[in-house]
Amino acid sequence: MSTADLFQQHVLPTYGRFPLVPVSGAGCRLWDDAGKSYLDFCTGIAVCSLGHCHPRLVEAIREQAGKLIHCSNLYQIPLQAELAEEINVHHVKIPGKLFFSNSGAEANDGLIKSARRFGHKRPQPDGSPRYEVITFLQSFHGRTLGSMSATGQAKIQEGFDPLLPGFRYLPFNDIAALENSIRPETAAILLEPIQGEGGVNTATPEFLRAVAALCKKHDLLLFFDEVQAGFGRCGDSMAWRMIAPEIEPDGISWAKGMGGGVPIGSFWLSDRAIDENGTAFSSLMGPGSHGSTYGGNPLVCAASLAVLKEIREKELAEHAILMEVRIQQTILSWKLPVVTEIRGRGLLLGVGLDPALIPTPEGKTAALVVVNRLMDRGLLLPPAGPQTIRLLPPLNVTEAEIDEALAILHSVLTEFSHPPA
Ligand SMILES: *Cc1c(COP(=O)(O)O)cnc(C)c1O
Repeated sequence: MSTADLFQQHVLPTYGRFPLVPVSGAGCRLWDDAGKSYLDFCTGIAVCSLGHCHPRLVEAIREQAGKLIHCSNLYQIPLQAELAEEINVHHVKIPGKLFFSNSGAEANDGLIKSARRFGHKRPQPDGSPRYEVITFLQSFHGRTLGSMSATGQAKIQEGFDPLLPGFRYLPFNDIAALENSIRPETAAILLEPIQGEGGVNTATPEFLRAVAALCKKHDLLLFFDEVQAGFGRCGDSMAWRMIAPEIEPDGISWAKGMGGGVPIGSFWLSDRAIDENGTAFSSLMGPGSHGSTYGGNPLVCAASLAVLKEIREKELAEHAILMEVRIQQTILSWKLPVVTEIRGRGLLLGVGLDPALIPTPEGKTAALVVVNRLMDRGLLLPPAGPQTIRLLPPLNVTEAEIDEALAILHSVLTEFSHPPA
């Protein structure tokens, strides 16, 4: 039986899967079951930061698998401690503490729980806890009940109501809408500095600064969801630093690129004092407040350490900026009418498409039509919303690989120069 048939019989049809069957990968390349090779600018949706089967990552996993794969968080885990230190000292560079999860959605759930703890510690004037988390339209925070409720996209929530209460969605990059948006029950603001799934929308520096100022003014927590944008992808270890480097958030979530393909996520809480007694925000998540059986086990921590050290030592965030410039300049030089704009930073880039120039069969978006055609020619990219394609190559992608991918992109996009007859 074919893989597609087995899927149909035995796997819940929650994904609209492409017919592609990948069986092996190396660096920027992926091979399917028929031996056809692809340039992979999807990288498992910004997960394989070092490309496929990077020797340093493979070796770290092999070595740790032969030593100790899992032990409980009931015990001390040296690699988890080492990973937390690597992230705090070399990446976040603000005093704080980490919790390790298995995914981005879980990391955001951790931030939401932390906001509620804060709301109990710093309640409303009438003594009742604060609990509301403000998020933004077109955001994506995950698929658990908590992170789905935080997500500002109706299509993600359809048919799953009642949602978790305590969320309100504001328009992204709209400073005027921020004014008067805070209510007595508001405890935190959560946002992606660069929205990924929602179409690759970058927060403006003015907007980020206005959000940070509002948090200060109203004693709110400022949370960044860096699940897709973090750890070098956008040109700095932390994406918000590409936009407004002076901002110090109270919480951060990560997953995707931090493990290079092993399931690991994390959330970080600041040690900042939240009251006159010097209570650290991070201390609110004390013993018994949160947990995960797998979270931060020796195997995934060994893998993540290898990935983050490689990104830091090889200066791959800086490399991402150089590659961004190459991509932007090349695409803009084509002057193709079908390209409306390029959004994003580093190697989280969205190419906006003019849907009027792309014939779309029933049920297909302009982005999907282009993605399918690129796949036929050997380039893998994910869409980001109905009229944006996303470029997410590995952070160590070479100039030659960029040029090869752009040549394919150019040949496909030139086919959409005229309105369909
Ligand atoms: C992918 C993503 C998530 C969810 O991560 P999962 O690991 O799929 O749970 C959350 N936030 C952002 C910004 C993401 O891109």
